[in-house]
Amino acid sequence: MFCSNCGSSVAEGTAFCPVCGARVARGVAGPAQPPAAAPVAYVPVTPAFNYATWGTRAVGYIIDALLVSAGMALLYVALGTVLTGLAGLGGRYPGGGMYY
Ligand SMILES: [Zn+2]
Repeated sequence: MFCSNCGSSVAEGTAFCPVCGARVARGVAGPAQPPAAAPVAYVPVTPAFNYATWGTRAVGYIIDALLVSAGMALLYVALGTVLTGLAGLGGRYPGGGMYY
């Protein structure tokens, strides 16, 4: 075998090289291989912001529905009032003409 440090011939079973004094690795020819790099652990990418959960979205949906309903109700009242006024029936339907 050969010394992994200086390359000189070293007798089998010798622990240290007689030329340079380096420790001789048994059964290893040439310079020792560097340890393999540890596999990089997978790091999950966290989103920049958290999306709304189902509960939050449900509450938001209900709020939106209420707002839309209120808006439509106001629209119907206003439209009914205008139509009633144009028809000259405003005095008879002070509530805004909520009839269909
Ligand atoms: Zn040596």
